Amino acid sequence: MSIRLLPPELADRIAAGEVVERPAAVVKELVENALDAGAGRIAVTLEGGGIGRIVVEDDGAGIAAADLELAVARHATSKILGDDLVGLRHFGFRGEALAAIGAVARLTLASRPRGSDGAAIVVEHGRVGPVAPAALNSGTRVSVENLFAAVPARLKFLKSTRSEGAAAAEIARTLAMAHPEVGFVVTLEGRQLLAAPSETEAERQARLLAEAGALIKLHAVREGMRLSGLVSPPTLSRASAAEQHLFVNRRPVADKLLKVALRVACQGLIEAGRHPIAALFLDLPAEEVDVNVHPAKAEVRFAAPDHVRGFVISALRMAFGGTALPPRPAAPIRAAPIRPGPIRPALALVHPRAGPGSPPAQAGLADATLPLPLAPSGRGVLALARDPAPTPASAPTSAPTPVSAPEHPLGAALAQVLSTYIVAETADGALVLVDQHAAHERITHQRLADALAVGGVARQALLVPVVVELGSRAPVLLEQAVPLARLGLGIEPFGPGAVLVREVPALLAGADPSRLLQDAADALEEDVAAPLAARLDRALARLACHGSVRAGRRLNGAEMDALLRQIESTPNAHTCSHGRPTWIRLDRAALEKLFGRR
Ligand code: ADP
Ligand code: MG
Repeated sequence: MSIRLLPPELADRIAAGEVVERPAAVVKELVENALDAGAGRIAVTLEGGGIGRIVVEDDGAGIAAADLELAVARHATSKILGDDLVGLRHFGFRGEALAAIGAVARLTLASRPRGSDGAAIVVEHGRVGPVAPAALNSGTRVSVENLFAAVPARLKFLKSTRSEGAAAAEIARTLAMAHPEVGFVVTLEGRQLLAAPSETEAERQARLLAEAGALIKLHAVREGMRLSGLVSPPTLSRASAAEQHLFVNRRPVADKLLKVALRVACQGLIEAGRHPIAALFLDLPAEEVDVNVHPAKAEVRFAAPDHVRGFVISALRMAFGGTALPPRPAAPIRAAPIRPGPIRPALALVHPRAGPGSPPAQAGLADATLPLPLAPSGRGVLALARDPAPTPASAPTSAPTPVSAPEHPLGAALAQVLSTYIVAETADGALVLVDQHAAHERITHQRLADALAVGGVARQALLVPVVVELGSRAPVLLEQAVPLARLGLGIEPFGPGAVLVREVPALLAGADPSRLLQDAADALEEDVAAPLAARLDRALARLACHGSVRAGRRLNGAEMDALLRQIESTPNAHTCSHGRPTWIRLDRAALEKLFGRR
């Protein structure tokens, strides 16, 4: 077999797939070009889900006839001054959108700068035609027809016309949200979805966001960063994150850091598995953010991610100030009264205990936010718990009606075996076995890590501080007081060779303070050359082990279901901190194989 270079046309088609993966991506590129051209009005028309035809028209600066050919060439852009790739004010600057689109569709670029004649150029699946005169108003009109018609492999990856069209219209709406000063018209399959004049930010948000009137207005600044927009109060949430619009320097992004920050900020305020409605605009100096890391510019890279994350979380927390998770009603009523009064961020990080008015643990549906009782009963050390967790003895033993909903991939708990493994059955008929300790340890670790990311693990004062005798190790350990405090352990010197533990991580309130301290210290001291973040995380893994339900502890039905739901909502919960699986799934085929039926 001989190695051949791809013909340039084919290479372009392959590269184009990176930028242009679906109609929505085309709309984004074309609207961003129109914005860069200083348009005051942009019209987006979609037919056949945008696969058939996309037309984006603007009244911006236009392109001179002599430049049309260049505009559709690869790596051609009018937007880089010198070699300044950093302080970019423009949205698109990769100089390949039009070329990429032209490689995988029929592209007609017609333009008329003010005071000149109009001209157009057609690119048909990579073949560039001649420039010809065209009649149009001043501005630019780009039509994209028959997307991927000559690239069947990509066509196959598109979803239905309906959902591609919806996604394309959605990106146009999102861009409209970020640019209220620009008039926008969006038409999908002949239906006008949006017709907005140039207006204020508030007017545009009210037009585009569901329940905008009920949302909290955000405005926070710190060290050159600004967070503005709207977010729903904890009492108003959605089952999906579809109504979250995130922007960095007015660019719509699907950025992980922001999503996580939003999730962390809501932790303990909004039930697990629910999502706030949000339009968040993060603005920061151009040199603090690299927007060029992702082909479609959906992800960005921050120069100081920890700063940004901390700022966004605390700004959101402040916006939520005075609100807390409402007591969970028996019926799924979402609009519960907001508890007045400020809420301490440290407390808010603690997993919410069921409120006083909430039903006991066995009631009906397994509640994903149900805390597992962590405190073994009969411990000598009493923690200042706000709401004592139910002890195993007081927990009801009656099994709940198993719920096996399709949205619960780990199914409903059926039984516990060997006091160590949970047996569950899923809606699609598979058997799931869960290692209760490994799974809970992973969940606890994730919670602690999320808390650490916000600035520190929430601490809880011990009613009776504990003296830990450490001998010659005491001074070494006291040097670590600051990192230990971030891990939730508050310590003080206590005479020669001893340390006083005053505070423990609130999530681990029931664990033995002396063991917690020694394990955390061991982890911090191991491999001192490693970065602090790595050592802190290792320490958290050790701590999580203590706070977690032991193998050998009896769990009731509600507790088991709660654990299953928590695993589902925890990232990376399929393996424990040591890399072992936390659960395994045996579907019918696997079971039949075990019994030699196939
Ligand atoms: P980029 O936007 O990265 O520069 P594109 O391929 O999207 O690359 O566009 C190439 C060039 O064509 C732009 O730099 C710009 O000069 C011109 N252009 C594209 N769309 C428009 C438009 N709507 N109005 C004016 N000029 C445009
Ligand atoms: Mg562009």
